[in-house]
Amino acid sequence: MKINANVEKDKIEIIRAYTDILKLFGEGNKRIINALNNRISSITTYPFDYEGNGITGKEPGKTGYENGINSKINVRVKGYEHSSISDAQISHYIRHELIHAFTAAAYDAFGNHKVVGHKDNIPFYNNTIINGKECQAVDGSIYEKDIVGTGNKIHNGGYCESMADILAICSKVAFDETFKALGISIDTVMKKSVSKWNINNITTGYFSSIPLSRLTIAAFSNFPNVNYQYILDNGGSIFSTTTTDKGAVVKINDFLYGMMNDPIYIAKEFDKIIGEGKYFEFCSYVDMCVNNQVPQQVIVGIINILTKFVIQNTNVKVKNGTYTREWGDKIIEEFESIKNDVLKDYGMPELESFKNR
Ligand SMILES: [Zn+2]
Repeated sequence: MKINANVEKDKIEIIRAYTDILKLFGEGNKRIINALNNRISSITTYPFDYEGNGITGKEPGKTGYENGINSKINVRVKGYEHSSISDAQISHYIRHELIHAFTAAAYDAFGNHKVVGHKDNIPFYNNTIINGKECQAVDGSIYEKDIVGTGNKIHNGGYCESMADILAICSKVAFDETFKALGISIDTVMKKSVSKWNINNITTGYFSSIPLSRLTIAAFSNFPNVNYQYILDNGGSIFSTTTTDKGAVVKINDFLYGMMNDPIYIAKEFDKIIGEGKYFEFCSYVDMCVNNQVPQQVIVGIINILTKFVIQNTNVKVKNGTYTREWGDKIIEEFESIKNDVLKDYGMPELESFKNR
C-alpha cells in the first residue's frame, strides 16, 4: 500500500487508521491481512481546502478502482493540511473512506463470488438473482442490473454510509487509550446512543441514521449480549463466526459480516424471513433516512420491520435447531432494550412490542 501525502501528520494517521481497521478482522490473521493488503493499492491525501478529482467540500473522500484488468483499489481523501476543522474530524474522514476501501477489498477477498469480468475497471462477479433481478455487490452496495434502460439501481447505499461511520468510529475507539480510560468500548458505539461515546463531537451527513444502523446490528445478531470489544482484545474478528448453545457455527452477526464482506448475504438472510425482494424495498426507506430529515412514520416503519425480522428470524433458528429458545429470547431482549434507546434518540415514545411469536 502506497501513501501519497504532503504532510507527515497525514501519513501517521493513515498508518494508524489502516492498522486499526485491519485489527477489526482479527489481530495477526496473516491470510486476511495479506488478502486485504493485496487489494488496496494506494491512499492519497489532499489539503483540506482542495477541490477536484471527485473530492468536494461536501465529499471529503473517494474510493475507486485503478486502471487495468487486475484493478486495485485506491483511496483519495482530504488530510490535515490547511484544515479548519478538528483533528478528530479529519481522522474520522480518513477512517470512513478507508472503511469503504476495506469493504471493497473484503468483498473481493472473502465474498465467495467468482469474478467474471471487469467494467469501468471494477471487477464484476457472477450475478446473483434476487426476486428475478440480476444483482451484483459493488463496494458495499448492491447494484441491480439495468434491464429496462433506466440505469443500474443501487440498493443498500444508506447502510453503506452509515456503517462506514460506525465502523470508522469502532476502529478508533477499540484501540485508543483515551476511550478505554473513559470506559468507552466498541460495544458502547454499537449499542448506545451517540452522546455516550462522541467525546470529540465528530459528525457527518449520515449521523442521523446511526441509531437505525445500531438497531439493525441488534436485529441480525446471532449471539446474545455479545462483547465485541472482548473479541477484538483476544485477537478475534467482529466479522467472524461463533458457536451457539446448540453447537451450530454461525456468523456472530449477519449484518456486520455482510456490511463488510458481502451485502448480498444480508439481502438473502432478510428475504428468507420477510419475503423475496423485500430487502430492496426496505432499503429504499433506510436510504431516505441517511442524509434527510424524514417523517417519523418512516422511522417507525423501519423499526417495526426490524422488530418483525428479529422475532421471526429467531423463531426460525430455534425451530431448525441453530440455537435454543432461551438463546433466541435473549437476542430479542437485547434488541428491545436497544430499540427503546433508538426511539428516545428520535424523540419518540416506546412502541408496543410485538407479542405474536
Ligand atoms: Zn462514504
